[in-house]
Amino acid sequence: MKLIYTHENRIMALNVRNVLMNHGFDVSLNNEFASSASGGLAPVDTWPELWLLNNDDFDRAKKVIDTITNEAVLAKWQCKSCHEENDSSFDYCWQCHTESTQSIK
Ligand SMILES: [Zn+2]
Repeated sequence: MKLIYTHENRIMALNVRNVLMNHGFDVSLNNEFASSASGGLAPVDTWPELWLLNNDDFDRAKKVIDTITNEAVLAKWQCKSCHEENDSSFDYCWQCHTESTQSIK
Protein backbone atom coordinates (compact mmCIF):
# COMPACT_ATOMS: atom_id res chain seq x y z
CA MET A 1 0.00 0.00 0.00
CA LYS A 2 1.31 3.41 -0.96
CA LEU A 3 0.29 6.92 0.01
CA ILE A 4 -0.60 8.64 -3.25
CA TYR A 5 -2.43 11.80 -2.29
CA THR A 6 -3.20 13.95 0.69
CA HIS A 7 -5.02 17.26 0.93
CA GLU A 8 -6.22 19.40 3.80
CA ASN A 9 -9.62 19.64 2.09
CA ARG A 10 -11.59 16.42 2.53
CA ILE A 11 -13.67 17.21 -0.57
CA MET A 12 -10.54 17.33 -2.73
CA ALA A 13 -9.38 14.00 -1.35
CA LEU A 14 -12.82 12.52 -2.00
CA ASN A 15 -12.82 13.86 -5.56
CA VAL A 16 -9.45 12.34 -6.30
CA ARG A 17 -10.57 9.07 -4.71
CA ASN A 18 -13.66 8.97 -6.92
CA VAL A 19 -11.70 9.66 -10.08
CA LEU A 20 -9.15 6.97 -9.23
CA MET A 21 -11.94 4.50 -8.50
CA ASN A 22 -13.54 5.37 -11.84
CA HIS A 23 -10.21 4.52 -13.46
CA GLY A 24 -10.31 1.12 -11.78
CA PHE A 25 -7.76 1.72 -9.02
CA ASP A 26 -8.23 0.28 -5.55
CA VAL A 27 -7.85 3.10 -3.06
CA SER A 28 -8.46 3.58 0.62
CA LEU A 29 -9.16 6.89 2.33
CA ASN A 30 -7.71 7.29 5.81
CA ASN A 31 -8.05 10.08 8.34
CA GLU A 32 -11.30 11.07 6.68
CA PHE A 33 -12.82 12.35 9.89
CA ALA A 34 -9.67 12.88 11.92
CA SER A 35 -9.45 16.65 11.57
CA SER A 36 -12.21 17.22 14.11
CA ALA A 37 -10.19 15.29 16.66
CA SER A 38 -6.79 16.73 15.82
CA GLY A 39 -5.98 17.78 19.39
CA GLY A 40 -2.25 18.27 19.74
CA LEU A 41 -1.29 16.71 16.42
CA ALA A 42 0.23 18.80 13.67
CA PRO A 43 -2.55 19.63 11.19
CA VAL A 44 -0.81 17.84 8.32
CA ASP A 45 -1.01 14.59 10.32
CA THR A 46 -4.78 14.76 10.24
CA TRP A 47 -5.22 15.46 6.53
CA PRO A 48 -7.27 12.85 4.69
CA GLU A 49 -4.85 10.39 3.09
CA LEU A 50 -5.47 8.47 -0.06
CA TRP A 51 -3.69 5.13 -0.11
CA LEU A 52 -3.21 3.05 -3.22
CA LEU A 53 -3.71 -0.64 -2.43
CA ASN A 54 -1.63 -1.94 -5.33
CA ASN A 55 1.90 -0.49 -5.47
CA ASP A 56 2.22 -1.48 -9.14
CA ASP A 57 -0.52 1.00 -10.01
CA PHE A 58 1.35 3.93 -8.51
CA ASP A 59 2.80 5.50 -11.67
CA ARG A 60 -0.43 5.22 -13.61
CA ALA A 61 -2.53 6.52 -10.72
CA LYS A 62 -0.11 9.40 -10.21
CA LYS A 63 -0.57 10.40 -13.86
CA VAL A 64 -4.33 10.42 -13.41
CA ILE A 65 -3.97 12.70 -10.40
CA ASP A 66 -1.63 15.00 -12.33
CA THR A 67 -4.25 15.25 -15.04
CA ILE A 68 -6.94 16.28 -12.58
CA THR A 69 -4.73 18.84 -10.91
CA ASN A 70 -3.57 20.27 -14.23
CA GLU A 71 -7.11 20.45 -15.55
CA ALA A 72 -8.12 22.63 -12.65
CA VAL A 73 -5.47 25.10 -13.74
CA LEU A 74 -5.96 24.78 -17.50
CA ALA A 75 -9.72 24.99 -17.24
CA LYS A 76 -9.53 28.74 -17.65
CA TRP A 77 -10.42 29.94 -21.12
CA GLN A 78 -9.47 33.04 -23.03
CA CYS A 79 -12.11 35.20 -24.64
CA LYS A 80 -11.69 35.30 -28.41
CA SER A 81 -13.10 38.79 -28.53
CA CYS A 82 -11.35 40.74 -25.80
CA HIS A 83 -8.73 38.12 -24.80
CA GLU A 84 -9.75 38.31 -21.19
CA GLU A 85 -9.06 35.14 -19.18
CA ASN A 86 -12.20 33.57 -17.74
CA ASP A 87 -12.79 30.87 -15.19
CA SER A 88 -14.15 27.60 -16.60
CA SER A 89 -17.37 28.03 -14.65
CA PHE A 90 -18.32 31.05 -16.81
CA ASP A 91 -20.24 30.40 -20.00
CA TYR A 92 -19.80 33.98 -21.10
CA CYS A 93 -16.85 36.33 -20.89
CA TRP A 94 -17.30 38.32 -17.71
CA GLN A 95 -15.94 41.42 -19.40
CA CYS A 96 -17.56 41.59 -22.87
CA HIS A 97 -20.17 38.80 -22.59
CA THR A 98 -18.95 36.90 -25.63
CA GLU A 99 -19.99 33.26 -25.43
CA SER A 100 -17.35 30.80 -24.32
CA THR A 101 -15.64 28.66 -26.94
CA GLN A 102 -14.41 26.13 -24.41
CA SER A 103 -15.18 22.56 -25.29
CA ILE A 104 -14.67 21.00 -21.87
CA LYS A 105 -17.31 21.68 -19.27
ZN1 LIG B 1 -14.40 39.06 -23.63
